[in-house]
Amino acid sequence: MTWDYGVFLEEAIKLLRSELADQEYTMWLSRLAYVSSTADKIIAGTPSGFYRDQIAQRYQKMLEAKLLELHGAPLGLEIQVSKVEATPVSENKAPAPDIIEAARPSPLPNDGPVIVETRQASSKGFVRHPQLNPDYVFENFVIGENNGFAANAAIAIAKNPGKAYNPCLIYGGVGLGKTHLLQSVGNYIHQEDPEKKIIYISMENFTNEFVQCIRENRMQSFKNKYRSVDVLLIDDIHFIQKMEGTQEELFFTFEALIHNQKQMIFSCDRPITEVKEISERLRSRFQRGFTVDLQPPSFEIRLAILKKKCDSWGISIPDDSLSMICNLITTNVRDLEAALTKLRAYSELVSKQITPEITKSLLKDSVANINQKNITLDAIIKIVAQYFNLTPFDMQNKKRNRALVYPRQIAMYIAREITEYSTTEIGHAFGGRDHSTVMHSCDRITDRLKTDATLEPTIKELIRSIRQDHTKS
Ligand code: ADP
Ligand code: MG
Repeated sequence: MTWDYGVFLEEAIKLLRSELADQEYTMWLSRLAYVSSTADKIIAGTPSGFYRDQIAQRYQKMLEAKLLELHGAPLGLEIQVSKVEATPVSENKAPAPDIIEAARPSPLPNDGPVIVETRQASSKGFVRHPQLNPDYVFENFVIGENNGFAANAAIAIAKNPGKAYNPCLIYGGVGLGKTHLLQSVGNYIHQEDPEKKIIYISMENFTNEFVQCIRENRMQSFKNKYRSVDVLLIDDIHFIQKMEGTQEELFFTFEALIHNQKQMIFSCDRPITEVKEISERLRSRFQRGFTVDLQPPSFEIRLAILKKKCDSWGISIPDDSLSMICNLITTNVRDLEAALTKLRAYSELVSKQITPEITKSLLKDSVANINQKNITLDAIIKIVAQYFNLTPFDMQNKKRNRALVYPRQIAMYIAREITEYSTTEIGHAFGGRDHSTVMHSCDRITDRLKTDATLEPTIKELIRSIRQDHTKS
């Protein structure tokens, strides 16, 4: 039996929207998208943990009340961080402010480390590519020592696809601009020549599509699609570990495209030599290409990025508060942006001028969360295994006896709760399991939490130990 309460969520959001200020809707509810349903609840996705928490805190009860009104029986709402680019529920969604911004040319920063000299297509109207985020253009990318080599290579590729640096591999940690650069190349080429066939896809989606095509006997169309592109941009290729079939397919795609001088750019969260369980022939293809890396930004670059963001969002935040953010958030650009979004939301909703004191108190939780974000799946496996008197190996092997299945499900559930890893990544860490197994495990624990009163304290205790272990290391 399957359920689909998507229309109820859509209606509930519409009803609530009519009671809210436009700005509030744009800021929060427009970021909520329907994901799936179970018998008695709707699962909705938001782009980040920040949105999830804020939306849950502000609107969950109101939405559930509307759902009750519409459905006639209680319907729960579970808000998750969803990597799926779900289409926003409401059709007449007002464009998010950052999308409006992208439609007009953004000024180049006038001082500091940033010089981006590319012709901006937006002056003659920006042509949207369906897979590319219009915000991800070179003009919005701040270049510094940490990323200059990669950014300049990307610009050179964009100006001369298939000729310069082919294939190119960009590697670097999370939130350092890999996706931004990949998509900037795509956007640039698309503005120059909308006829060029550009595909941007994450490795995870490439794999899913591949598997689905095999299942549905559509391999020929898969091959035709990927082997006929002019530009292939594959994001996060570290997902390919262990996927033998996908590796083989990618290898042949690679050969075909190189042969025809078609441009390929890949991104990876680590150097290719550190990607394990990838076939030698594919690794050597990547190694023969051109490789550039992205490093975390220095204080000056962080500040330049924030100033540029403020400009493009049309907001003004005093310099001392911006410096405060740069001092507090040192990890990566994504965290930096999330911090700025929080300040912006505060200043818009409360209509108060931001001060360093307010900044500090608003970011207290984010800073703690960022520290938590780096919790590894291995650490979770280790602590949960210890608790149940098992070894990490027990958690990862394929045996399915009850004594192992239950701790495994708990560990997967915790991983979903306290980290940002996708179900595919979690499945990998648990001995190469499928993402649907991870989802099923989490559902089992969610169900069990309703009937087993001892489970919640156990999970809380485990999360506490994991966090404690993390802060020690
Ligand atoms: P990754 O793919 O490496 O995890 P993203 O490309 O998604 O990182 O970058 C995270 C966020 O930070 C995006 O919103 C991106 O626009 C922004 N960003 C990253 N690097 C820069 C930069 N140098 N200048 C401006 N914005 C940046
Ligand atoms: Mg990315």
